[in-house]
Formats: sequence, structure tokens, C-alpha cells
Amino acid sequence: MANALRQLRNIGIMAHIDAGKTTVTERILYFAGRTYKIGEVHNGTAVMDYLAEEQQRGITITSAATTLKWSKAPAVTINLIDTPGHVDFTIEVERSLRVLDGAVAVFCAVGGVEAQSETVWRQADKYRLPRLCFINKMDRLGADFDMVVDEVATRLDATPIVLQLPMGAGETFRGQIDLLRERAYFYDPADVATDLRIEPVPDEYAETVQIARQDLIELAAEYDDDLMDAYVHEGRIDRADIVAAIRKGTLTGELHPVLCGSALKHMGVRALLDAVVDYLPSPLDVPPIFGPEKPKGKKSVQRAPDPDEPFSALVFKITSDQHGDLNFMRVYSGTIKAGTRVLNSTQGKKENISRLWEMHAKQRIRRDQAAAGDIVAAVGLKASITGDTLCDSRHPIVLEQLEFAEPVITMSIEPRTNADKQRLAEALGTLHREDPSFQYRFDQETGQTVICGMGELHLEIVHHKLVRDMGVQARVGRPTVAYKETIRAAATAEGRFIRQTGGRGQFGVVTLQIEPHEDNDARGAIVFEDQTKGGVIPREYIASVEQGVRDASTCGPLAGYPMLNIKVSLLDGKHHPIDSSDIAFQQAGAIAFNAAAVKASPVFLEPIMRLSVTTPEEYLGAVTGDLNARRAEIRQMSQRGAFRVLVVDAPLSEMFGYATQLRSLSQGRGTSTMEPHSYAPAPAQITERILRYV
Ligand code: GDP
Repeated sequence: MANALRQLRNIGIMAHIDAGKTTVTERILYFAGRTYKIGEVHNGTAVMDYLAEEQQRGITITSAATTLKWSKAPAVTINLIDTPGHVDFTIEVERSLRVLDGAVAVFCAVGGVEAQSETVWRQADKYRLPRLCFINKMDRLGADFDMVVDEVATRLDATPIVLQLPMGAGETFRGQIDLLRERAYFYDPADVATDLRIEPVPDEYAETVQIARQDLIELAAEYDDDLMDAYVHEGRIDRADIVAAIRKGTLTGELHPVLCGSALKHMGVRALLDAVVDYLPSPLDVPPIFGPEKPKGKKSVQRAPDPDEPFSALVFKITSDQHGDLNFMRVYSGTIKAGTRVLNSTQGKKENISRLWEMHAKQRIRRDQAAAGDIVAAVGLKASITGDTLCDSRHPIVLEQLEFAEPVITMSIEPRTNADKQRLAEALGTLHREDPSFQYRFDQETGQTVICGMGELHLEIVHHKLVRDMGVQARVGRPTVAYKETIRAAATAEGRFIRQTGGRGQFGVVTLQIEPHEDNDARGAIVFEDQTKGGVIPREYIASVEQGVRDASTCGPLAGYPMLNIKVSLLDGKHHPIDSSDIAFQQAGAIAFNAAAVKASPVFLEPIMRLSVTTPEEYLGAVTGDLNARRAEIRQMSQRGAFRVLVVDAPLSEMFGYATQLRSLSQGRGTSTMEPHSYAPAPAQITERILRYV
């Protein structure tokens, strides 16, 4: 079993849009599962087959995870996990990074390290994710290998270790030189897909190769004392030892092996797959995972990547197709058989795993079981959503404790026909399970369905999916900001809920104090503390008071927005031996909270977004001028080539249509990403505007 695990790689491809992620993926699928013989001449039919497949493949690789075999000896299984193309939704990117053991970062040899690559790279740093770099598009005019290597070092604070040198660039790009093997790879322009010729290093490169090889070995030796010894004392070193040293440095995230090629022309993809096997971790190389036994629990337990440990897995993506929901999960420990009941420890619910599938590009293969390290799609789960942990109910563990930011933006959505209405309800449920940061609710007062998300773009994409992928015709209204309310002063109030008119009555009296409270650990929380003494309120009713307070806090005194950042202290109360009840104390709690909130200088809070804006230098003035007019605060400004990168905090209410405006201010060259950052008291004009519409 351990051997099989050693031959497994769970990887993803990270890339800036347009760098070539799709093309690299397609080429990997093309080469996977085939034995290639160097220098073998293929006849026309092979190429024809390939073209036909190529066309189909476009649709099949959109799976959340694809399993493929790379025919090295012994064969290696690679699970290629899709990473989202949009970096606007940090949570999605982070979740996919979490289930990877390693990644290939694809860069364009002309564009180099672009802003979005930098964002994703930094997120991967957080998870100490081992990475390889593939410098793609070496065949493009202006391709500059050294420049990209340099940018990887300076912009990403990485330590690139160059394993290949390109021969030529742009139109003259002919192949690569493998520095470790000291040989050159040439491709036949007529049959690049299959033909790979290995030749000695051409004379003109001999000297450059010696220098580059020396740099490589010196750098690798820093990660391995034995190699350093051999290097200093012996001169000649085994390739296997160098590979081992580079692997060591890569696994700790300290070294980043660099390869190059042209995915479009099939050049360099096979060497890239070899490098994935040589340098990226197997599930056994990844440290055990930790988590509490129940949500918010303190005591942490540990699971090793071992099929004999208790079962634990993380659901990282849910997709629906004609067979129902597919729950893609990464198994971290233990073994699970199809047809077993498991615990969803995040929700405290039992779930059924009826079937397990291994997903390939063109087919799915039924599995009887899945074990530590595997990535499979499970069918049969009803309640689980993206981010939930599944585990053995006798050995609970919660692998991820996500605190989602509150949705900051809402839109009404209206189905066109009655049939759409039915489908809309189902589709919204599916979308929420796929992406829990997307929410929806039915507004009783207006009779409208409202969708809520992390930004304008987020809801636009959801709308797009509804219409295009799910076939629901629905119109959306204008986006509106989801304001919140809080208080600026402390206040105390009493709440009485007494009904004593014959028969069994109701009796609950409480006194509460509320005060402003910011807790960085529990963003936006209402903190409740019982400070009563002497049992003035029986223990079992304290939770009822808290429930009443929490219910009341969802509807603030100014305009009914949810309230944030408040500490509530239960100071005193009275009970009645017969008439007191859960309901009476809930009501009393709510009444007291509402009364105190009105007296505590309530204010509106508006969502503040954090933006990263990239613009060519010449439009900087126009871009910052526009940002200032939007009440934005520029937190940071840096230079990246001919571009300026700004980190900006700005109120969401001022940022509608920003992406379009930025494009028009910068002749289409500026880009931005935006995500919820914090809340700030709304200025007077916003307060007036909200109150006018209440
Ligand atoms: P993605 O957005 O990262 O998935 O990028 P794609 O794979 O869709 O590639 C974007 C564009 O670059 C497409 O037009 C590709 O044909 C092209 N492309 C991808 N790889 C190469 C390459 O190695 N050389 C050249 N010249 N073009 C490439």
C-alpha cells in the first residue's frame, strides 16, 4: 500500500489567465497513459486519432479532478486537480490549494510573473505548497527565459533552480537542454506530438551548460550535506544524488525547479511530467493533518496518511450532473468502502456514501474503496457542502474550520416563467452547496428571492452559471450593498415578558448591558456573557435569553440590518417557579436587547473592499483620481515593470461598475481584483440615503 502511495501525486496547475493552463493540461492528458518511445516514428493515423481526441478533450477536462497514469517505471498515478481561474474568490482558490500536495506554476515566457500569479503564489506560500515552475510559450516572439527566472526570484521571493536551458527563443526555439543529464531534446516540427530526439549537448552550448550545471549543483548542495561533501571533495557527482537533494529542497518549499517549453507545440511536457514525479511530494511526504474532534473544539487530534488510520476526508468541490451530485473528496487517512455510512463532522450529520468514482478524462471508473491519499468523487451524500469533513463516526475529526466572510452584496432575482421558478429554487441550492460563500433567501415582505455574495463579479458569475449551465431563465435586479448595524455606546435595558391572566402564564424578566466589542478572532460576532449571580435566572433559561438576543440582533434598530461587534452581558433577572419558560426568556432577552440597542447610539456599517489594482504607469494619475473620488484609501503602491500595483481599501457602495471604469481609464490595460475586507461606520450621506429608503 505504501508503495502505491509513493507512486501517487496530487497536483494542480496554477497560472495567470492566458499563460497556458488549459493547453498544458491538454498536453498532459495527451501524453498520459501512453508509452512513448524516443525516436519512434508514427504514421499518420496516430496523428489523426490524436486530433479527434483533442476536440473531445476540450469538454472533458473541466472535471474538478482527473486521474491519469504517467508511464514511467514504475507507473505513477497523477490526480490533476482543477484550480479556479478566477482569483477574485480567495476561498475557492485556498480550498483547492489545501487538497493539493504540490503544484506546477505555469508562466508565459513573454508576460512573466503577472499580478494574479503573484496573488496565487502567495496563497500557496501560506500552505507551504511545493511547486515547480514551467516557463511556457518559449516559441513566442519576445520569449525571455532569463527574465522570467529573474522575476520568479525577485517578485515571488522564490529560489528558482534551473534544470533546463532553452535552445533558442521565439521562432528559433528548438528544444531544451537537460542540465542534469547533459543532453539535448529536439523535436521534429512535423511531428512534435510524438517525436522526441535525444542528442548530445550542441557544441555552441557546451560552455553555458557547464556554468549553469555548476550553479545548479551548488544550489542543490545547500539542501543536502552529503551532496555538498561530494561536491567539494570528489568532483563528479551522481545524478540520483542531485535529484534527491533538489527533491528535499522542493518538498520543504525552499527550492523551485524551473523547466521550460511550449505546450502548444508539445515541447517540454514529458519532461515536466517526469519532474512532477521526481520533485513533487507523494501523500506520504506530507505531514499528518490536525483538527479538533468537533467544530470549534479545543482538543486537536491527528491523522497520518495511512490506510489503516481512522477514515477522514475533505469535500473540496461539488458538481452536479445527470447522475446527481458528485462530491469530490480528498481522503487524508484510512480507507472508505462504497456503501458505508460516515459522519459529516462539520455538520454533525450522518451521511451515506453509496458509490465512489475515479474520474478520468474520458470515463469514470467505479471504485469499491478509496484510501489515504486518494481523490475520488462520492455519490449519495445529501447534506454535505464544499469544505465539510467526512470521517469515521467513532473517530471524529474536523479538518477545516472555515469562517466565511459575510456576503456584502445582494441582488433580487426573478424567474421568467413558472417552470423557471421551480428550477431556480433547486439551482440556487446546488450553487450554495458548491460555493458556500454564495447565499440566497426568500424575502417574505417583498415576495422576492434575493441572492447574496462577495462582490458584483461573484453574483454576475452566479447569474451566468444559472442561465448558461443550468438553463434557468431569470432576471436580476441592481446590486445593493448589504449594510450592517452596530452601536457606539454602552446601554442597559430591562426586558419583561409577563402574561398572567388565568391558567399557566409566561414570566421572564432580564436586564442586559450591551457595549461595542471588536473581536478579531470572531469577526462580527455577538459575544454573550452571563454575569448573573445566585440563580436569579435558572441555568436552563440562560441559553433561552441568549437565543432571544441573537434573534433580535439579526434585525438592527435603524433599518433592520444584522448587527455586528457587540458584547452582551446578562446582568440580572427574575423568574417564576411555574410560569417561566423557554419562550418567556427568549422574548424577554429580545425585548431587552432591542430596548438597549436603541439607546446605544446605533450606526450603520458599510462593507469595505480590498482591491489590488494594476495599471500601466501612464494611466496612474487618472486611476488614482478616480479612486479618490470613490472614497478609496491607497494602502500600498509598488512598481512592476511598466505597471503600478496599488493596494486599495474602498467602500463597496462606491465600487459598482469599477472593472469597466478601470478598463476605460486605462485603454483596457488595467486590471483589478476585489474581496471583502472589513466594515467601517458609514458617513452621514450614506446613512441619510439608507434611511430615506427604509
Ligand atoms: P489559460 O487561460 O491559462 O488556460 O491558457 P490557454 O491554454 O487557454 O492558452 C491561452 C492562449 O495561449 C491560447 O491561444 C493558446 O493557444 C496559447 N498558448 C498556450 N500555450 C502556448 C505556447 O506554448 N506557445 C504559444 N505560442 N501559444 C500558447
